[in-house]
Amino acid sequence: MKILVAVKRAVDYNVKVRVKADYSGVETANVKMSMNPFDEIAVEEAIRLQEAGKVREIVAVSIGVSACQETLRTALAMGADRGILVEENEIELQPLAVAKILKSIVEREQPNLVILGKQSIDDDANQTGQMLAALLSWPQGTFASKVELGDYSVNVTREIDGGLETLTLNLPAVITTDLRLNEPRFVKLPNIMKAKKKVLEILKSTDLGVDITPRLMTLKVQEPPKRQAGIKVDTVAALVDKLHREAQVI
Ligand code: AMP
Repeated sequence: MKILVAVKRAVDYNVKVRVKADYSGVETANVKMSMNPFDEIAVEEAIRLQEAGKVREIVAVSIGVSACQETLRTALAMGADRGILVEENEIELQPLAVAKILKSIVEREQPNLVILGKQSIDDDANQTGQMLAALLSWPQGTFASKVELGDYSVNVTREIDGGLETLTLNLPAVITTDLRLNEPRFVKLPNIMKAKKKVLEILKSTDLGVDITPRLMTLKVQEPPKRQAGIKVDTVAALVDKLHREAQVI
């Protein structure tokens, strides 16, 4: 069994994002970048399935600028076996373009399972996994909080509004990870050294013959308006009175 894991280079989750001076997007120059946290969970899940003896090979894929090699090296240090970078330094990559590129990598690698994060913490799109499954006509289990892999199918417990739901998907399938699926391991120094020797293949997006032209245009990116400070009231009666008055204003 082979698993493909998609790992995106995104602004580190500890960084307070800033809008660019010309409002064209989020500032990424001189900003710490890391693996998208949901993708760390995806890599961890693939490794756990491999440790359970169910998986022969884990291939990590990243799409973007050449610095995505660092993200792939992190995935390799965690335990992925091989990395593929689809390099694209010019065009802004939108979820549909990423899904199309992943589809062409899937056709090349023929994995039994693809695991992605449920969303990137930079664009918060939550689209790529669903689009990939649709393009491949494969079943999808999104927002997974538990994964049980069989020989021909996989049970995915999903976090949905009403609670949890469990689906059985025939393989091959696409899964996207939710926060509670697992806690990713810390990367140990010896494994960072070992990862340097693992194979990292670099392809150009133009080699794949996929149309990645952006379909959406960003007009302006702005900070949300500052929230006004709240007030404290001394008694419940004062609170009820205030709520009544505010309701009348509305
Ligand atoms: P999104 O639809 O942008 O919220 O992303 C959902 C998931 O798709 C991410 O958590 C990644 O697993 C994958 N993904 C999105 N963009 C990329 C990328 N440029 N390279 C690799 N994986 C990506």
